[in-house]
Amino acid sequence: MARLLYKNIACLVTNEPMIRTAGIRPQEAHLGLISRGAVAWDGRKILWAGSTKSIPKIFRGKSWRPVECSGLVAYPGLVDCHTHAVFAGDRSREFQLRMRGATYQEIAAAGGGILSTMRATRAASRACLADLARNRFRAAAAFGVRLLEVKSGYGLRLKDEVKCLEAVQEAAVRGLEIYPTCLAAHALPPEFRGKREEYVRQVCEDILPLVARRGLARSVDVFCDEGFFTLSESRAILEAGRNAGLAPRLHGEELALTGAAELAAELGALSVDHLLKVSPAGIRSLAESGTVGVLLPGTALYLREPPAPARALIDAGVRVALASDFNPGTCPTQNLPFVGTLAALQLGMSTAEIIAALTWNAAQALGMSGRYGAVAPGSRGEPVFCEGDHPSALFYRMAPAALPRPT
Ligand SMILES: [Zn+2]
Repeated sequence: MARLLYKNIACLVTNEPMIRTAGIRPQEAHLGLISRGAVAWDGRKILWAGSTKSIPKIFRGKSWRPVECSGLVAYPGLVDCHTHAVFAGDRSREFQLRMRGATYQEIAAAGGGILSTMRATRAASRACLADLARNRFRAAAAFGVRLLEVKSGYGLRLKDEVKCLEAVQEAAVRGLEIYPTCLAAHALPPEFRGKREEYVRQVCEDILPLVARRGLARSVDVFCDEGFFTLSESRAILEAGRNAGLAPRLHGEELALTGAAELAAELGALSVDHLLKVSPAGIRSLAESGTVGVLLPGTALYLREPPAPARALIDAGVRVALASDFNPGTCPTQNLPFVGTLAALQLGMSTAEIIAALTWNAAQALGMSGRYGAVAPGSRGEPVFCEGDHPSALFYRMAPAALPRPT
């Protein structure tokens, strides 16, 4: 495995002070910037980071390949903590309907939406889903992602939820750790129309215990929103997942204000994601509980919804992360640097807040801060690079095709 010594990095973002600040109200001083920086990467983890002038002798030997990084900014490997990257089918037709004014709920009622992807996913083989997922994992890695959360949720019955999570496992690519989540409660499958309690019971008693036992998922998620799962159904599902050993996380406050943020805080969920409609009381409860608020500005843009109240969340002391929400219906992009651009333009987030949200806090949303999200001895995730000399280089270029790799 390559042992690389990156040196002469114009600006190295280490995030090292975030060990103490926990990603709350991030400021430039928390980025741990080093000019003319250097990083020793042994192919699995970071062994050392500092200034090029002070590289220890052991990293100057023949077994380390020096990589020249002048003109580049280096960052901790990015973390995309919310994606739906395992699915089959295509929903480009819906884009036209949406542009004509159809709402999310109207598209779902017309047979589109999540259930159209469910039909295509159920019809696809595990090998086909793994091929599709592998291509998407490679795309994520090209955008600088080193830890990628992937949800099931288009199978919506035991055998197909298991098939999707197996495909995720099978699709693994080098240099990218996958964090699988079971989102069997993404929507009510059509065969359970009028029998909601029966599906919720199956999720709680059959699907979640099985995927946990087989190590196919590490967390449980639920779409807690108007027209999807109620607060009390969500509570039952998250508690069942937690009892099976899965960390609770949820989609909440996207389509309507339901109190999902307070539920997430009460259950000690790792994160609550979307938050377009979150209330001041919900914000306070997230700040108190430490639950991460994951914002998905690509989705709000695509749905032409007003953005989430990022400023109110951050100023209140909520740890805020950003993610792509890559999915075939409401956010068909994997471009995480572009999500950073949207956070600057539409959410009013500062450079330090955006970097924390794409690295340290996104790792925290998966219970992995400290392991990912920093350039420090022991950190996992190969550093990522952008042309420039200032930390905002990562999201200053709008929608890059990929991040550059120094050679
Ligand atoms: Zn989602």
